[in-house]
Amino acid sequence: MDAVVNLCKRRGFIFPSGEIYGGFRSTYDYGPLGVLMLRNVKDAWWRSMVQLRSDVLGLDAAILSSPKIWEASGHLSNFTDPLVDCKKCHERWRQDQIGTTCPNCGSGQLTEARAFNLMFKTHVGPLEDDATVAYLRPETAQGMFVNFLNVLNTSRKKPPFGIAQIGKSFRNEITPGNFVFRTREFEQMEMEYFVPPEDSDSWFQYWLEERFNWYLDLGIEKSKLRIRHHDKEELSHYSRGTADVEFLFPWGWGELEGIANRGDYDLGAHTKASGEKLEYYDQGQNTRYFPHVIEPAAGATRAMMAFLLASYTQDEIEGETRTLLKLHPRLAPYKIAVLPLSKKPELAELSIEVLRPLQNLWMCDYDETQSIGKRYRRQDEIGTPYCVTVDFQSLEDGAVTVRERDTTSQERVKIVELTSFLQSKLS
Ligand code: ATP
Repeated sequence: MDAVVNLCKRRGFIFPSGEIYGGFRSTYDYGPLGVLMLRNVKDAWWRSMVQLRSDVLGLDAAILSSPKIWEASGHLSNFTDPLVDCKKCHERWRQDQIGTTCPNCGSGQLTEARAFNLMFKTHVGPLEDDATVAYLRPETAQGMFVNFLNVLNTSRKKPPFGIAQIGKSFRNEITPGNFVFRTREFEQMEMEYFVPPEDSDSWFQYWLEERFNWYLDLGIEKSKLRIRHHDKEELSHYSRGTADVEFLFPWGWGELEGIANRGDYDLGAHTKASGEKLEYYDQGQNTRYFPHVIEPAAGATRAMMAFLLASYTQDEIEGETRTLLKLHPRLAPYKIAVLPLSKKPELAELSIEVLRPLQNLWMCDYDETQSIGKRYRRQDEIGTPYCVTVDFQSLEDGAVTVRERDTTSQERVKIVELTSFLQSKLS
């Protein structure tokens, strides 16, 4: 864990927010490489959940939202964690995470648990009174429910179909921590899949498998992933069945994503509160019904952390320890680094010529400082799958050396064939 946190800081993936002022309460900023990788995680999700399907549509709903949404959804009364104070050292904890003793001082003297609502409250407009209260959304899901009719009426879809959204969510977590595993501001990737009620069990199973396989396909070893079904007592107020995809974090198993069968809870609750019938009218059968909802809800920032941890590797090359991120090419910040062997102008000129068409297709790095060995190590450490080296021979034979990250094997490739060569490797 420390090695990955350190690498994230040192190489520009993730910085503690407001660091020059001593940091700010478990918030983080994504640096030049982090913003690329986080975007890749989200793109990989969008590709699998929206682009490669014809039954799922996208949405981008507002973050600032009306209290009416949260009242109807049950968040105002139920989106709470049990808060306890240690009577001795006055630290505050989430009771369900600590049990009966204070993790800070070991005292067993804790206050009674009280329900602490996790939603961030603010005011819209210049007046700060009860009528202007708004909330920062604590999940993206409600955006899909309140837009159910808008999407249905504009898309001509019918169940089974889904609405997907990626975006920031905010929760006033009592104890954020474990780096970006639990933060107060984070990004979610959620999809609400609306199905005929009688098909909800089979769709729940379907999405559980799909989502488990997504992490596998992007390179996390099977031994570090598992599915855990929730017990009855653990289920959220809306859920008829939930299972988590969990990852083996350095401190133990932790949730990456929850897949829930929400039944018709949300559409029913918003119908009741708004008076708008959030139903599907089946013309063929001349029937109306509330579709049931299967929801795969993942965290983009948490998934990125898992991909970093899972890909962090140390091996030995020519007697030296090497650190590398064995990231799936889809997730790697840079797909290719173009490295002129020396800073001589004629090599730089050819290198830029090599770089341009590659940049047109992929995020590429360009680096001409230090020895070539050191530059390879730097690229390995940030997970760049391929390095393209332009040397003096390139000026003669119109070819470059392509080095592969994991095996360090090298191959001479003609510049005119380079794009299609890399395309076949990267796809
Ligand atoms: P927990 O019980 O751990 O607080 P949860 O079960 O309430 O989490 P969900 O509401 O199911 O979490 O959220 C869906 C996903 O959003 C989670 O699986 C996780 O990946 C991500 N997520 C939730 N809360 C946070 C957070 N505070 N920081 C980072 N990611 C989060």
